[in-house]
Amino acid sequence: MKPIIIQNSNIPKYLSIFISISAITLFPFIISRDEMSEVTIRHEIIHIEQQRELFVIFFYILYVWYWLRGKMSGMTNDEAYMNIPFEQEAYRKMYDEDYLESREKHAWKNYT
Ligand SMILES: [Zn+2]
Repeated sequence: MKPIIIQNSNIPKYLSIFISISAITLFPFIISRDEMSEVTIRHEIIHIEQQRELFVIFFYILYVWYWLRGKMSGMTNDEAYMNIPFEQEAYRKMYDEDYLESREKHAWKNYT
């Protein structure tokens, strides 16, 4: 199933409670405030793949858990966000044009 991409949406703004969100992926949707660059779309598709392999629900449970773990260790909201393994993989690999074809399942575990 291909992701469904929605651009120029207000949804990310309403969800920006703890940190400023420009785009959000809620399988199978990728929703962004603005027009996304190819790099940003790749970042979000990496999250689609992570969510697919964790049956969506376990992605969100782990996402929140990793964020709270960062907060409990004294990180700021932004630091805790950047420290989440799902984000580490997405930010490090979003510039790699070939990544989605070569990505191994559960590659995010390399960033825990
Ligand atoms: Zn992300």
